[in-house]
Amino acid sequence: MESKETLREFPGLSPAAFQHPLDVQAVANLQKVPLLTPLLKALSGSVFEKQMWMMSISSTVRLGPNQGRTIYEKFTKAAAILDLPDLPDIYVSNQYTINAYAFGLERYQITLFAGLIDALTEEELLAVIGHELGHVKCQHMLYKTMTYLLRLFGLQILDSLLPGIGSLALLPLQLAILHWERMAEFSCDRAALLVVQDREVVASALSKLAGGSQRILPEINLEEVLQQAEEYEDADVGLVEQLFKVQMLLLQTHPFPIVRAKEIMEWGESEQYQDILRGDYARNGASPKLVVTEPVGKVCPGCERVSNASASVCLACGSSLRGARRVCVKCQVKVFSTWETCPGCGSRLAD
Ligand SMILES: [Zn+2]
Ligand SMILES: [Zn+2]
Ligand SMILES: [Zn+2]
Repeated sequence: MESKETLREFPGLSPAAFQHPLDVQAVANLQKVPLLTPLLKALSGSVFEKQMWMMSISSTVRLGPNQGRTIYEKFTKAAAILDLPDLPDIYVSNQYTINAYAFGLERYQITLFAGLIDALTEEELLAVIGHELGHVKCQHMLYKTMTYLLRLFGLQILDSLLPGIGSLALLPLQLAILHWERMAEFSCDRAALLVVQDREVVASALSKLAGGSQRILPEINLEEVLQQAEEYEDADVGLVEQLFKVQMLLLQTHPFPIVRAKEIMEWGESEQYQDILRGDYARNGASPKLVVTEPVGKVCPGCERVSNASASVCLACGSSLRGARRVCVKCQVKVFSTWETCPGCGSRLAD
């Protein structure tokens, strides 16, 4: 581990520089599921975010320059390395579990659990913070919020957002979301590595997440963990794809951190990672080929007609468009000014 002063920063880093291809592919697949767009529309107009935010405020400590300074400094350091200028809120929950999560549609929040902070070394904690910031960096937050609600409330959440559709019809959507959630973790482990710049730190943080029990933690042996991952590997099929098939049915996370540890150890040796370290990476605004650009529009609060984003008054009914909901013109999913691509249809957003 290099000292924190010598950690490299990546100005202008685009998520495309490091996003895992399986994450990119899972997003593309998710966007093909028919019910996604109505679900995103319902979710982005719902009150869950406000409720969650209230819950965080009341049951956790929000960190800042004058609150939990050492962890907060890690957080700002990680954000600087990944070039994430808009900081989410960061909270510590007193719940004693080895976990962390990112949540939020318009206002992002990262929550670290007390058990996590106690279980990890300083560098491992920096890696986990880098992972969570990776979700913000990769514009995962709308899907991430959806998976979070699914875990919390189960399939009923889809039922309540899309009443009358029926659980069976919603199942493909649920599976596609949960599949994406897995694949997204690979991207964010890469963000974690870009932050700590030591692949063993990320892998050991992951094996602690897998280990769970407090008593086993000091005895976790990274070599053994990676050995365990080898055992999943098949001569013909890639480890990840193969394991995923089983995971998809189980819908639970058990051996998954082990696979992630293996995956990040490999990426840590890749040319792609070395190139990024040397400053040779895709920068923001370098739009990937074949991505269609769609304008952002504003929805009139009076008549629901979509005007272009620069309009201040609705031409159809004369209502003011100040503070009107911004949507992707193609699929009408609500979008926020910080988003580069539409989570509903995958178009690149342009004002
Ligand atoms: Zn994650
Ligand atoms: Zn109008
Ligand atoms: Zn769209």
